[in-house]
Amino acid sequence: MPAFTIELFPCRSDNFGVLIHDALSGATASIDAPEEAPILAALERRGWTLTHIFTTHHHTDHVDANLPLKARFDAQIIGPAQEAARIPGIDLTIGDGGDFTFAGRPVHVIGTPGHTAGHINYHLPEDHLLFSGDTLFALGCGRLFEGTPVDMWTSLSKLMALPDETLVYFGHEYTLSNARFAVTIDPANAELQARIRQIEEVRDRGEYTAPTTIGLEKRTNPFLRVQDEKIRAGLGMEAASDAEVFAEIRSRKDNF
Ligand code: ZN
Ligand code: FE
Repeated sequence: MPAFTIELFPCRSDNFGVLIHDALSGATASIDAPEEAPILAALERRGWTLTHIFTTHHHTDHVDANLPLKARFDAQIIGPAQEAARIPGIDLTIGDGGDFTFAGRPVHVIGTPGHTAGHINYHLPEDHLLFSGDTLFALGCGRLFEGTPVDMWTSLSKLMALPDETLVYFGHEYTLSNARFAVTIDPANAELQARIRQIEEVRDRGEYTAPTTIGLEKRTNPFLRVQDEKIRAGLGMEAASDAEVFAEIRSRKDNF
């Protein structure tokens, strides 16, 4: 059974570059393509050759290096069917419920509208890996540029149904500012407090907060904790629907 090797590195101002590599076949995928130079440097450092790009959504900071990387490596670009016209160089379109194999391993595509209308996540169930793009962040979630709070809450609910041990690689190092907001919504959560201290240490060392896990996010990310009674009481929303509580937390974050 292949064990993927994963390389995580910064791109642009606060994006993550992520490469996933199977030593046996040599298959190497870049999760999105935020910036050419750091992706090339990571490939060089590891001695890997790019074979695939898995695009999560059409925003420039996720597709900017598609064409130069495709020109250099002839990498296959997989991306959301619904956004195909806005994804440079796309070869294979896929949507919610779609499947393909990478290095002989199953990849399941989860449609996660909200940040963009066609946003997708890539789930490798046998490897307990999720690539969440700008849907789920550590202690946060993407802004609602093309979707409603109901859309995003439905998308996050799909991710919450994955096994707790699923490792989640996400699109941006926003975790410290997400943490400062999270504690205003969920001040009584001791695990959140402990996590924030740990995040501060990680960032002080110049390291990054990815990956996270589904279980850790379910316990500490306020956007996944809309059913928590203390959070609801703090918002004065004891009787509201889950999506209404989610919408309130999202709008407070937008104005934080
Ligand atoms: Zn985005
Ligand atoms: Fe982004």
